[in-house]
Amino acid sequence: MASTTRRVPEPCLCSVTGYVALVRVGVVAETAEGERRVAAVPETVGRLVKAGWRVAVERGAGERAFYTDDAYATAGAELVNDAVAGSDVLLSVQPVPTLDLAHSQPGVTTISMLAPSSFPETVRAARDNGVTAFALELVPRITRAQAMDVLSSQALVAGYRVALAAALRLPAFFPMFMTAAGTVAPARVLVLGAGVAGLQTIATCRRLGAVVSAYDVRPAAGDEVRSLGATFLNLELESQEGAGGYARTQSEEFLRKQRELLTTHITKSDAVITTAAVPGRRAPLLVTAEMLGGMRPGSVVVDLAAETGGNCALTQAGEEVWHGGVCIYGPRNLPSELPRHASDLFARNVSNLLLLMTKDGAFAPDFDDEIVKGCCVTRDGRLLHPAAREALGENEQVEQVEQVEQSPAAGGPA
Ligand code: NAD
Repeated sequence: MASTTRRVPEPCLCSVTGYVALVRVGVVAETAEGERRVAAVPETVGRLVKAGWRVAVERGAGERAFYTDDAYATAGAELVNDAVAGSDVLLSVQPVPTLDLAHSQPGVTTISMLAPSSFPETVRAARDNGVTAFALELVPRITRAQAMDVLSSQALVAGYRVALAAALRLPAFFPMFMTAAGTVAPARVLVLGAGVAGLQTIATCRRLGAVVSAYDVRPAAGDEVRSLGATFLNLELESQEGAGGYARTQSEEFLRKQRELLTTHITKSDAVITTAAVPGRRAPLLVTAEMLGGMRPGSVVVDLAAETGGNCALTQAGEEVWHGGVCIYGPRNLPSELPRHASDLFARNVSNLLLLMTKDGAFAPDFDDEIVKGCCVTRDGRLLHPAAREALGENEQVEQVEQVEQSPAAGGPA
């Protein structure tokens, strides 16, 4: 990021609410390797300007998503060399780099993905610099928050893209063809995990003409799979649906049984696409090296869970590896490979969240609101989210402090 002399903005307190009146939201150019998305697109800049925000976009921020500086300017943004300096709220896809946080203005708010377990140093820097940091991936997945849910919007993009990644690596067609030279059979694709990404994978593979079967540990996924024209495998295993409709952590015994029952389905598939995940945990291991050995040469396994440990034993994140003629591909950051539409959806999620926190012409997050509270990680020099405390190894300390605070001797409730 280019740096310029940083100016100290004048705080503008609203006399009625006491909140900082709308000053400036900065759109940061991404610097993480391979990140092509941008957290605001001209359409969402227009919405924010209409709501009263001054929007500063770093020059070139949208370039890799094919949004020009001119398009941002037309939407009402001012173009700057450094959006961190002088902004009250910073929007980005990846966390704002730690060094920038140290030089941001006091009391700045950041809205980005934060992944406390992957970026503990960033979370620590946010806390120590008095940053109010919101983590988009922690927005509660309740109905009211669907329009702010980046996990869903980006899973849709990843699910589409992973199907294409498999089709491109298979040395055969996905669709069936009946030609003068004879009939070509359609590819058999097995999708493991039928959540938001998996369902989009199934839909895309079906559009490409493959014969698709799928499995998920949540039986409720069966109807959705069938509605897309795919077969839902009945492995006759007990449901692993946990709280909030998500999969719960499965026992090693369950996973061993699942792998055993899946073996024949995997070995007769041309492409296996794995999308299985358990929130906050390592991805379950579903495909072993032994299973890969039983697959026909030329078959492919594309593992969407590569960045969280992988559903396949041989997956290496960001790499293509070969095992007995079978290609195993573990893509990283697939949404970034479709940067325009991924940015459009991401930016709408972000602007919806920011507008939820904009009241009567002021930036006024209501920390009693389930959505705002649910995704706020640091505030006033404190770590607020359990996932962040765990990532920084501070859960124990906090529990001790809370116990002391609540003890009768400390004046807490008896
Ligand atoms: P996810 O990314 O955490 O997991 C992907 C899928 O992997 C899930 O369907 C899960 O059941 C499956 N899985 C886990 N272990 C498995 C295993 N051993 N074998 C096969 N599959 C396995 O999940 P997600 O896609 O984010 O969402 C899952 C659920 O949450 C769905 O029911 C979805 O409809 C729901 N959801 C609700 C909202 C909302 O706003 N209400 C938003 C998004 C998702």
